[in-house]
Amino acid sequence: MRGIRCAKRLPGVLMVWLLLPGRGAIGQGQTVRLRAVGDIMLAGPMGGMIQRKGRGYPFAKMRSTLRAAADVFGNCECCIATCGSPIPKQFNFRACPDGALALRESGFTIVNLANNHAWDYGRAALLETVRRLHAAGVQTVGAGPNAAAAHRLCILQKKGLRIGFLAYLGLLPALLPESSNAPCLSMASVEAIRSEVMAARPQVDVLIVSLHAGQEGDPLPTARQKAFAEAAIDAGADLVIGHHPHVVQPLEMYKGKPICYSLGNFVFSTTGRGTGAMLDATLSPHNVQARLIRLRLYGAQPQLPGRMPRRRRLWASSRRDRLARGR
Ligand SMILES: [Zn+2]
Repeated sequence: MRGIRCAKRLPGVLMVWLLLPGRGAIGQGQTVRLRAVGDIMLAGPMGGMIQRKGRGYPFAKMRSTLRAAADVFGNCECCIATCGSPIPKQFNFRACPDGALALRESGFTIVNLANNHAWDYGRAALLETVRRLHAAGVQTVGAGPNAAAAHRLCILQKKGLRIGFLAYLGLLPALLPESSNAPCLSMASVEAIRSEVMAARPQVDVLIVSLHAGQEGDPLPTARQKAFAEAAIDAGADLVIGHHPHVVQPLEMYKGKPICYSLGNFVFSTTGRGTGAMLDATLSPHNVQARLIRLRLYGAQPQLPGRMPRRRRLWASSRRDRLARGR
């Protein structure tokens, strides 16, 4: 499964062996490339589109870019299940099982589930989502059969670099409260982030915190987002990847570590709502270099800026010409 493992599933002896100094250590000057994108919604209008055009359709124009990275992270903003029924809330999204394979085939190695739609069809559907993603070869973070599992550190290993992920949902209310014996999501608090990041730090070379928080449509982070993100960095995280506002928020450096407050949308709907960006990062021990690449959310297929359809390119250039001529 592409060098993927989850910390608690390893037998103790194997864990000790993996953590021996120098074992599988990343070579001098070697880096691992991570690409991360924001909200991925495979239900609703996008679900119909996938049924008509095939499961890989929404990712088609980004697949080669994503697959070129060693690790690809995204926020899976829906459950992927056949069971369950809608919990009381305004919007409920459930994608068909093909969604898990589509993510894997498009290069995703890990997705966040600590968000405000993974629980839309209840606890059993949340757990089915986790199982389907794992069966497809996509690791998950931020959800599990109980609170301990939802808060668990997930480690992906590439070129000997141990890349750890923790994830938190920073929105209230918790429609399915955390439980010690039922499927749930990992809810954010400054205290939980601080203690879990500190516990995870010695286990990995690079520590990434996923944060689903903020105000929809707001181009700037809220005080709550900042408090969570800064607590993560203060406690030892190397990178914070945010999502939820549906628009791109700033990539800021805090104490020398990048915080990307919101990557906006990736695959979301056919209406063109919101904006999106891809985080392109190079990882080395305790160090992350990151930049944001704005995406064009054209119809149902996100794409890099230089890959606009010819029709749109012609329209854009003729508009530029008109503006240059003062019309
Ligand atoms: Zn959300």
